[in-house]
Amino acid sequence: MSGMVVSFSAVNSSLSSLKMCQTYISTGMEIVTNVALDLTETEGDLDDVNTLEQMMLEYAAIDREVNHFIQAVEQVTNQIRHEDPEKISELKALVQEKFTGLQNTAQDSDLRRNEKYIQFKENLQEARKQGGLQPPEGNEKENENEMDDDIAVTQSQRNTICPITQLEMVSPMKNKKCNHSYDEQAILGLIKSRHNQRKKARCPVVGCDNADIKQSDLVPDTTLKRVIEGRKKQGSSRLTM
Ligand SMILES: [Zn+2]
Repeated sequence: MSGMVVSFSAVNSSLSSLKMCQTYISTGMEIVTNVALDLTETEGDLDDVNTLEQMMLEYAAIDREVNHFIQAVEQVTNQIRHEDPEKISELKALVQEKFTGLQNTAQDSDLRRNEKYIQFKENLQEARKQGGLQPPEGNEKENENEMDDDIAVTQSQRNTICPITQLEMVSPMKNKKCNHSYDEQAILGLIKSRHNQRKKARCPVVGCDNADIKQSDLVPDTTLKRVIEGRKKQGSSRLTM
């Protein structure tokens, strides 16, 4: 019987370190949210904000995984404690089985219901609304407005420039995996030439860790296409998104 007591206390201490791990995840998500808010408020790079959103979803996935493991351990230990004390020897296998079951039935869409992810989206939406409706106030007002205009112009130019050709895109394609966009011909050419060398095509956007772009990951970037066409019509006037 003493062996069993030892096992349960080991389980309890692992559970409390996992719960500690969750507080780190939660802190990480708060930091990412703050960085994204700063970027949005300063009209930073939209790609960076998208990368941060991906990070939030990755955090949400880790958090869910930890939750599933805790759930599996709690259910299995309760069951053993109350129903089948002799099954303690199978504890690990039973937990693994339960955990795998929970992971397998989980949906990607559930990650978007993560509380911190929802907060992230709401905060960003709020920041964008404020940025769009309220001009900056205070004595630096004029300076700031000029700077905002400069940033907005380079921003909209950069977003429609293909990271491969450095030219304005003609037919932008978005990568579903990392949310980066490239001109169709350029990215298809890049994938083809890498595959001809029997290598994977890495996303050419600086800082992106997508190391294997597949043609099937690419979808037409209709938003960017509209932006480019809108700009053509407006000539060189400032773009409003
Ligand atoms: Zn990328």
